[in-house]
Amino acid sequence: MTKYVYDFSEGNRDMKDLLGGKGANLAEMTNMGLPVPPGFTITTEACLAFLAQGGSPTEMLEETGEHLRGLQDAMAKTLGDPDDPLLVSVRSGAKFSMPGMMDTVLNLGLNDRSVEGLAKQTGGDVRFAADAYRRFIQMFGKIVMDVPPDAFEHALDEAKAAKGTNAQDTDLDADELTALIERFRAIYREHTGEDFPQEPMDQLRLAIAAVFRSWNGKRAIDYRRQNKISDDLGTAVNIVAMVFGNRGEDSGTGVAFTRDPSTGEKVPYGDYLENAQGEDVVAGIRNTKRIAELERIDPDSYRGLMDVMTTLEGHYRDMCDIEFTIEKGKLWILQTRIGKRTAFAEWVMAYDMLDEGLIDEEEALLRVDANRLEELFKRRVKADGARPVAKGLNASPGAATGAVVFTADDAQERANAGDKVVLVRRETTPDDYHGMIASQGILTSAGGTNSHAAVVARGEGIPAVCGADAIKLDPVGKTFTANGTTVQEGEVVTIDGFTGNVYVGELPLEESELEKARSGDEEARGEKIWKAFERLMSVADARRRLRVRANADTPDQSSNARGRGAEGIGLCRTEHMFLGEERVGAVRQMIFAETEQEEQKAYDALLPLQREDFVGIFRAMDGLPVTVRLLDPPLHEFLPNQVELAVGVARAEERGEDEVRLRDERVPLDEARVILGKVDQLHEANPMLGLRGVRLGIVKPGLYAMQVRAICEAAARVKQEGRDPKVEIMIPLVATKPELEQMRAELEPVAAAVLRAEGVRLDHLEWGTMIELPRATVTSGEISEAAEFFSFGTNDLTQTAFGFSRDDIGKFVGMYEERKLVPANPFVTIDQPGVGRLMRIAVEEGRAANPSLHIGICGEHGGDPASVAFCHRLGLDYVSCSPFRVETARLAAGQAAVGSAEPAST
Ligand code: PEP
Ligand code: MG
Repeated sequence: MTKYVYDFSEGNRDMKDLLGGKGANLAEMTNMGLPVPPGFTITTEACLAFLAQGGSPTEMLEETGEHLRGLQDAMAKTLGDPDDPLLVSVRSGAKFSMPGMMDTVLNLGLNDRSVEGLAKQTGGDVRFAADAYRRFIQMFGKIVMDVPPDAFEHALDEAKAAKGTNAQDTDLDADELTALIERFRAIYREHTGEDFPQEPMDQLRLAIAAVFRSWNGKRAIDYRRQNKISDDLGTAVNIVAMVFGNRGEDSGTGVAFTRDPSTGEKVPYGDYLENAQGEDVVAGIRNTKRIAELERIDPDSYRGLMDVMTTLEGHYRDMCDIEFTIEKGKLWILQTRIGKRTAFAEWVMAYDMLDEGLIDEEEALLRVDANRLEELFKRRVKADGARPVAKGLNASPGAATGAVVFTADDAQERANAGDKVVLVRRETTPDDYHGMIASQGILTSAGGTNSHAAVVARGEGIPAVCGADAIKLDPVGKTFTANGTTVQEGEVVTIDGFTGNVYVGELPLEESELEKARSGDEEARGEKIWKAFERLMSVADARRRLRVRANADTPDQSSNARGRGAEGIGLCRTEHMFLGEERVGAVRQMIFAETEQEEQKAYDALLPLQREDFVGIFRAMDGLPVTVRLLDPPLHEFLPNQVELAVGVARAEERGEDEVRLRDERVPLDEARVILGKVDQLHEANPMLGLRGVRLGIVKPGLYAMQVRAICEAAARVKQEGRDPKVEIMIPLVATKPELEQMRAELEPVAAAVLRAEGVRLDHLEWGTMIELPRATVTSGEISEAAEFFSFGTNDLTQTAFGFSRDDIGKFVGMYEERKLVPANPFVTIDQPGVGRLMRIAVEEGRAANPSLHIGICGEHGGDPASVAFCHRLGLDYVSCSPFRVETARLAAGQAAVGSAEPAST
């Protein structure tokens, strides 16, 4: 029989699949002897059964009843008891933390009678009991019964207003709260058609069902999609004896991290709110105090908390985040987990913990997330004396500038239209998630560093400033005022998530410390983040088996890539060498040539220009291999757009003009007519499958010969300068072995003749092909007999394997991902079962036929960490990616070599 319910003493931290993260860690802490209130966990399997059958399994309800009796015995209290009641919280908790995305109900067990028992229990504190009861009706109504939350908020605001201006909820006395309870019950009845349930077991059953259902709530689904969490996991439910942080000045609640999750510094970090319940901290309802102040407020509890933090960090060997409550001077730990942190803090912590001996090199390497490495090179605001209009908390690092919007829907809408926006709110709630992730930055006027806005922003790498209380919002008028300045919707602001400053207007943004350090800035090189970066990258470099090259087409790109650690060029696309004003004439002459002589004249004009390009690249990559791909795109790409040209010609004819005006140039009408004729002639229904790649080389033999001549003359020159060019010539879009054989038969003599004439011998001159067509992958055994290397062009291979146009997939790939028709966007991460399988065949059969074949990848996937890990497993020799992703690929390759990399924050 399936066991659906586990007492905290029955679980441990490794049971996250079944007990969820929260349940597993509560169990772990219980067994460590830490002060956790007693409780039990209903498993994720129960949730899945509930969702499948549309109700709770009977066995689950029976087991819950048994465990509840156990809990009542342990606490010597009974749910609903009019004299001494037990109250419980019902908390969601999935395998992966989904902060605030699912539901929780507190104070469950209160009814008209037990509220009196609660007052007795607390020494006659009628006010406290009434406040707990009104919170429970409010929360239960909203979460379990879908009563619109505004209805309760409105009634609460009225009660506060009746008390006086600026009255807080803490100012309401027992009688006023009792009257408010009556109001709340009426609101409940009005919206649900039923009385507020008095039977605690009914309350519990309904609350458990609501938490299960919240797994499929909109915000939970949105969050899972964004964070690539499976929909099939379900949530566990934790039933925990209530402890109260709102029992007066000697009580309170807080969230603490064992290290600073923003900077990584080894100092306790967090917020504390006196006389409050847990949800108040996260909701940002009142502004919180820094955790260090607890030392003054309640030194004993502070010391206890510090001890727990030290114990937890030693036990988990990582930064933990903790929710705690102090009830009348007694410390309770309500939750812990491995804390989420910024990309910056992730590196600093991994470096420090390695230094402290808490973790070893391999673990340190796996603690950083290759997908977030680029964040570290993010910009900052260059304020240069500009005066901020407000200052809040530096809740999530980075700088953002954009047009102000005041609602999540507006943020999403304008971002979809291509605008950059900054979302400005009093505080955010999980319902704002879709707008938050659409924004460049987030600015709130309330809430602390652990408010919802801050937590989500940090997790998503979005800069955020929170709790900027100088900002007075008028959400209806869509303006805000800060220190006398009024900002309308659509006006641009700049926020600095490193300092908390808010500026009106667009300020320039400045490079990151890491970027500066990389460029040689001595001061920046003294920063810990640079040391962390250097140390962990050196570990990655020492461990990785894959080499990392860059896709670079110019000398500048090549130097940039080399500066980032590229070990060669895996793809030099030569098409840009056919673009530019000085080349356009020769290229057109080549395309239009009627005779061999005309064509040769065009090549003669292009040759010296291309040679100079190659000289620069070979110099920049001295001693490292450079793979040059011969021309790949269809020729019409070098001619004006067919429709634009046709319209231009027609317009000029109609107006009697002798010149045609195109977007980038003016062309005499006669010439334009000739070009149009040629464009029409070259037009193809499917140019991506048309006259491109090796087919161009076959049809226009002089073209590739000219390129090979330019490459070899450049290599010879660079060699004569005393350098060491390593040349690899790559033929694109090969489908058959004879294509490659014929090209080599034509081109190798050209290369040999050049080198002979120059009197130069190249130590490294190889001939190979891209593997970017399915036929090439499955006949790779043959093709490899004619190749010294293969390079997977996974952009085209994905395009041709799926039959998805790589230029048009944007229109529907989102829907495909959402409906799980593809596991992920296959143009971002290699589709392992399909494209990956073709690659595997090509590697195995290619190497079997030609053991000295070397193999790399140069599609965009070469810079995607998950794809890099796959390439490692496939046994490729190198990955090649954009220069800006070279470090990401180095890191991912190192991580792949030591084991699978799990992002540190989950
Ligand atoms: C590829 O197809 O993966 C590739 C690298 O070539 P291109 O993107 O230039 O077609
Ligand atoms: Mg290609």
